[in-house]
Amino acid sequence: MNEAKKVLQQYYGFTDFRKGQEEIIGNILNRKNTLGILPTGGGKSLCFQIPALLFPGTTIVISPLISLMKDQVDALSASDIPATFINSSITQTEFNERISLIRQGAYKLVYVAPERFESDYFVDVLNSIDIPLIAFDEAHCISQWGHDFRPSYRSIVTSLQKLHQQPVIVALTATATANVAGDIRSLLDIDADDSFKTGFARENLSFHVIKGVNKRDFILNYLQQHPKQSGIIYTSSRKETDGLYNFLSLQGFSVAKYHAGLREMERKQAQDEFVYDEKEIMIATNAFGMGIDKSNVRFVIHYNLPRNIEAYYQEAGRAGRDGEESECYLLFSKQDIVLQKFLIEESHLDYEKREQEYHKLNQMVMYCHTEECLQSYIIRYFDSNSHEMKCEKCSSCQDQREKVDITREAQMIFSCYKRMGERFGVTLIAQVLKGSSQKRIKELGFHELTTYGLLKSQKEKDIVDTINYLLTEDYLLLTDGKYPVVKVTPKAVPVLKGEETVLMKKSITPVFESKSDAENQDLFEELRVLRKEIAANEGVPPFIIFSDTTLKEMSRYFPIDEDSMLRIKGIGQAKFTKYGQTFIEKIREFVSRHDIRVSDNQIPSKQETEEKNEHPSHLISYEMYSQGKPIDDIAKDRKLSKITVQKHIIRSAEEGHEIKWQELFDENTEKRVLETILVINSDRLKPIWEALNGEVDYFVIQAIICKNQIESKV
Ligand code: ADP
Ligand code: MG
Ligand code: ZN
Repeated sequence: MNEAKKVLQQYYGFTDFRKGQEEIIGNILNRKNTLGILPTGGGKSLCFQIPALLFPGTTIVISPLISLMKDQVDALSASDIPATFINSSITQTEFNERISLIRQGAYKLVYVAPERFESDYFVDVLNSIDIPLIAFDEAHCISQWGHDFRPSYRSIVTSLQKLHQQPVIVALTATATANVAGDIRSLLDIDADDSFKTGFARENLSFHVIKGVNKRDFILNYLQQHPKQSGIIYTSSRKETDGLYNFLSLQGFSVAKYHAGLREMERKQAQDEFVYDEKEIMIATNAFGMGIDKSNVRFVIHYNLPRNIEAYYQEAGRAGRDGEESECYLLFSKQDIVLQKFLIEESHLDYEKREQEYHKLNQMVMYCHTEECLQSYIIRYFDSNSHEMKCEKCSSCQDQREKVDITREAQMIFSCYKRMGERFGVTLIAQVLKGSSQKRIKELGFHELTTYGLLKSQKEKDIVDTINYLLTEDYLLLTDGKYPVVKVTPKAVPVLKGEETVLMKKSITPVFESKSDAENQDLFEELRVLRKEIAANEGVPPFIIFSDTTLKEMSRYFPIDEDSMLRIKGIGQAKFTKYGQTFIEKIREFVSRHDIRVSDNQIPSKQETEEKNEHPSHLISYEMYSQGKPIDDIAKDRKLSKITVQKHIIRSAEEGHEIKWQELFDENTEKRVLETILVINSDRLKPIWEALNGEVDYFVIQAIICKNQIESKV
């Protein structure tokens, strides 16, 4: 072992072995067949390279990928270790030269593709030299259970019997579920005692799940904050790769792209540019990455949901192979689940396998909703015996939000499911609790359930979040399959009986729904698509049609008629005539599809925005109001919307100007509103307005809250 350490320092310049390396190398040096399971970047290559240097003779390394062989041989040659590779990429002359050198024992290591063993000639060559060790890199390829099964790997086993000598065998892989490991061991004759497995944890990686953001904005922001770093962005389709690539190169970033739709040469060039740091960022589909040993990848961002945890961990794991701190982000949006399901349906798998894929997809989705440490979640996915732990740097561990008691919500959700017969998915039940007036709900008679509308004060999206959380915490379970349904598990029973409470981390919602309320991301994306179509038709760049700001305003305020559309920034009469109706139709369709109740009162008029900075517009309105002018007239005079004038009045009141409240509402209305606020335990406008069935004006509610805040009753 001392010798091994010397080699480590002399040839590689490293002072210490990493976890697992020492045991594996020691075991090989004792001439025992060995299985080594180390995470990606764990340093598997050294595990066979160092024994190869210490043993007399030539070590044969079986490797599944041509690019991988070349990289490793290049690296070895750079450290003056004689090595070569034999595969389909070399010419006959090169082949003859190399074989002749192999026969002379000139190499310490020879990398070969698995197919090579099918040739009797090659086996004869091996029989003519001294072979102390055969290494199977990426050994999971040998197993049918593995995700990259290669029949040619498996058939090597028969060829090995044709060898006159009995070399030591070492198998190395990063993925080994119990099935795969068992398979490798029995095929290669490795004792259970000679298997070494280090933890799956990648201590230098921090995992993050990001929900509900504009993905492009996120990427832009991230890249701006991490200049000159090498990273990979994975998307789920060629189209998306192309789109993001165009977008980022237009913004001046150093990007390359890679997907199966490109010609072999283009792919090779892109890969080289990235590997050699000529391009900083690789945008790619999952076709990219196998056999890429680039060690200084600082971040891996998944633009879309991967199909399962295995794929995710492998792809994300390409960050930080050099052991430096690196980041893995997953940008979650619900639509991506639909795409993954579609891909499963398209895959022509048999029934059982398909169900298995659905199951894996569900666990991937759970990853996006769990409050458990993300690293811990992944490890427990691979090894259900391992304990929960905290990495202290993933987005779950770093989540500062307070846990709040959601027992009552949970009870409502459980009992609603029970009443619906546990035959439906997440969205429908959220809609029932929200009290949605969707046709399907009426058809099923769910609007008559006692649980209908119980959570109407919440956003549908928040209800969905809570349900997803209850799923990850095993109070509910999602069946596998194309149309998964939610079931209530026994864990929910004590909660229903009121014997146990449920806690969940939640953001505190702001008191007022402010104007800066974020835009609806889904609508924004749909409007972009629409804009792009129009732009393509007219042969102009999309921003000529409408700017992003304009689309964002539309997705915030849902303008569904001419009046409200004209109040959106960037839309004048001319633009409206050209495109207004098309966009209105799109928004209308979206609004009804998502059951969004639209009230146009939130759209600020352009005038208001323009005036705001110059002089206190609200005081002009207040002035007129205090002279006894009705609000409608003030609006007409000032060419402002009624809503705007109402807001002016409220604002003036908040600033201490005197208001004759009794002119705005009567005592009964005030009482009713205050009671409602207590009952629904929220002082957000929209929920109150909804709880009052829209019978009391937004403005009046706002005024009542304002009055009582001033008198400090609320
Ligand atoms: P794997 O095949 O397990 O994914 P590699 O063998 O390609 O990983 O090694 C990943 C990186 O770790 C390489 O850059 C390698 O030089 C480095 N490395 C391996 N062993 C050590 C060690 N003992 N000390 C420091 N760095 C190491
Ligand atoms: Mg490797
Ligand atoms: Zn963590």
